[in-house]
Amino acid sequence: MTELESFRAEIRSFVEQNAPGSLRGTRRGRFDGYWGGRKEIPAPDVKRWFDAALERGLTAPAWPRDVGGAGLSDAEARVFDQELARLALPPPLVGVGLTMIGPTLFDYGSAAQQREHLPRIVRGEVRWCQGYSEPGAGSDLASLSTRAVREDDHFVVNGQKIWTSFADKSDWIFALVRTDPTAKKQLGITFLLIDMATPGVSTRPIELISGASPFCETFFEDVRVPVANVIGEVNAGWTVAKALLGYERSMIGEAMSGDIANAEVELVARAREALGAPNGSLPDEAIRLAIARTAMQERCFAFTIERLRQSAREGKAPGSESSILKIVASELKQARWDQAVRIAGPLALGWEGAGFEARDLAATREWLRSRANTIEGGTSEVQLNIIAKHVLGLG
Ligand SMILES: Cc1cc2nc3c(=O)[nH]c(=O)nc-3n(C[C@H](O)[C@H](O)[C@H](O)COP(=O)(O)OP(=O)(O)OC[C@H]3O[C@@H](n4cnc5c(N)ncnc54)[C@H](O)[C@@H]3O)c2cc1C
Repeated sequence: MTELESFRAEIRSFVEQNAPGSLRGTRRGRFDGYWGGRKEIPAPDVKRWFDAALERGLTAPAWPRDVGGAGLSDAEARVFDQELARLALPPPLVGVGLTMIGPTLFDYGSAAQQREHLPRIVRGEVRWCQGYSEPGAGSDLASLSTRAVREDDHFVVNGQKIWTSFADKSDWIFALVRTDPTAKKQLGITFLLIDMATPGVSTRPIELISGASPFCETFFEDVRVPVANVIGEVNAGWTVAKALLGYERSMIGEAMSGDIANAEVELVARAREALGAPNGSLPDEAIRLAIARTAMQERCFAFTIERLRQSAREGKAPGSESSILKIVASELKQARWDQAVRIAGPLALGWEGAGFEARDLAATREWLRSRANTIEGGTSEVQLNIIAKHVLGLG
């Protein structure tokens, strides 16, 4: 038995012993799971699963042991993930603490900042959100105008963020603020960590077309933030911000690749059901071709992910290539939901109420949600610009 095989046996037995039956089969997307933080009280089984994983460092499988992680190698972390996927189990902990601000703190945080924040992420004590976009600064993020003015050992922050995912459920926000309004726009920005319990921080949820309200406007009114909460140097936050965006885009791409792993099987099953063709090939050639085309693209995408994982193993942080991951993953996901809705036909027209199965209602909402995939984390047009300039060197 190789080392990895014996690791798999060990982790499988851990999962079998500790994952509550009620959670098995419940994971649909990569973001399904416990987000932690001061505001969410987890259901008893979710908490049991979280506690068991925490004891083994498995809430942050690949993070080092000294911050509370399990110190797994990339290959071992993937085995853990595969064992979760085998039982359709949600990971014990999810969120942007693990995928965005955590990795950025490893790269840019001081030792004191790492000691303060990383263990609290691992222990699920703090839920983070991202304060980048503003009403006047989306794609052109460097135009942001939230101001931070220094007063002794504090900054006083005033301004507004928008589209802050789950701000109302979060405890801390990592925010970009303007500290030098006279400098060229990228040069006057600072990356600041803000405790959302600080007086002057407030949030207001925004309702979406899908009926859900996953994000907010976030307001800062004379919010006093210690200078010690600056990541990197004052006025040099743009470099940190871009590094975090690399992690964000990789995370979106990887998460969506996980979501689409079973897409072909699911789509074929749905098509067989909807078209009344339990066996043999599907009768509708157009649908057959569309499913095959998406399936081929998904496989190519899986190879690309593997190649980028390989460079990550060699110590290369995700750079502009993460834009490729993001754009392809989000467009593939949209293609999949377009096909699902087309296959469902009239069943995809339901919004709520009798006459529709919960599965069909959920699919319609997922289809609408997938519209946002090519906007969040930077729009497709912006990703194409980055690829043209920084990957292909056309700028
Ligand atoms: C689901 C979701 C969650 C989000 N969560 C967060 C969050 O947690 N925190 C956060 O800070 N932000 C978040 N955002 C905001 C997101 O980052 C922005 O929506 C995105 O960067 C685009 O900015 P904008 O909406 O202002 O669009 P705009 O920048 O106004 O763009 C409008 C249109 O113009 C195009 N365009 C703009 N500039 C160019 C250009 N140079 N070349 C070609 N085309 C261009 C765009 O592609 C787009 O089609 C989220 C967005 C969504 C949809």
